Amino acid sequence: GASAPVLEISGVTAGYGRTTVLREVSLSVPRGKVVALLGSNGAGKTTLLRVASGLLRPARGRVALDGRDVTRQAPHERARMGLCLIPEGRSVYRTLSVLENLRLQIPPWEKHTALDEVFTAFPILGERLGQSAGSLSGGQQQMLALARAYLCNPSVVLLDEVSMGLSPRVVDEIFASLKTLAATGVALLLVEQYVNRALDMADDVVLLNKGAVSYSGSASGVDEDEVMRGYLGQD
Ligand code: ATP
Repeated sequence: GASAPVLEISGVTAGYGRTTVLREVSLSVPRGKVVALLGSNGAGKTTLLRVASGLLRPARGRVALDGRDVTRQAPHERARMGLCLIPEGRSVYRTLSVLENLRLQIPPWEKHTALDEVFTAFPILGERLGQSAGSLSGGQQQMLALARAYLCNPSVVLLDEVSMGLSPRVVDEIFASLKTLAATGVALLLVEQYVNRALDMADDVVLLNKGAVSYSGSASGVDEDEVMRGYLGQD
C-alpha cells in the first residue's frame, strides 16, 4: 500500500547453522527515506541485508516490501519488486568492458534512458565505456557497481559499505551520488563505517549491537559520539 514502509523487517532472528547472529531485529525503511544501519564489526549488518534481500532465510520473523510479505520470496523476485542490493566489495565483471557491465544490468523492458542517468551521476563511466572494468581504479569500479542502483529501477537500495577502502575524495564523490539517488525518491538502507557521513544524509538511524537493535529513531537525535559509545556497548 501507499502508506506502508517500502521495506519492513519485523522480529527477525537469523544466523548460520547453529549460530544465531540476529535476535528479534525490527527495522523499517519509509518510502523515499534514507536509513543508516550502524554497528561494530560482526554486529550482524551484512546478515540483516542478506535476510532483507532473500539470500538468507530467517529462523523467525518477517520481511515485507510495500506491505507485502516476501519472507518466502527468492532474491530475484524481491529484485523484481524493487529491491536492489549493492553487496560489499565492488561487484563488477573485471574482464568485461564498462558498457558490457552496464548492459548486463538493463532488463529488456527498461528504456535506455536509464543509462543517461548513470552517465550524469558518474561522468567518468561514460568516458571509459570500452575499457575493461578490471583496469578501472577502485573508486571507478565502485561507481560501476553503484550504477546498478540506477539501472534496476528500485524503490529501495541496500548498500553494504560502498565506501570501504576508498580515498576520502572518492568517498565524497560516492556520497554525493548517493544523495542524488536519494533525491529521486529512492529509499536507501545504508550500512556504513563512516558514521558522520551516514548520519549527515540519513533520516533515521538503526544501531545494531551484537545482533540486537540498541537504538532506532531519528538521525537528528543522535551524534557520532553517542553512536560510538553504542558500538562499544556502553551506556
Ligand atoms: P562487518 O562490519 O565485519 O561486515 P557485520 O555487522 O556486517 O560486520 P556480519 O557480516 O553480518 O556482521 O556477521 C555477523 C556474525 O556472523 C559474525 O560473527 C560473523 O563471523 C558471522 N558470519 C557471517 N557470515 C557467516 C557465514 N557465512 N557462516 C557463519 N558465520 C557467519
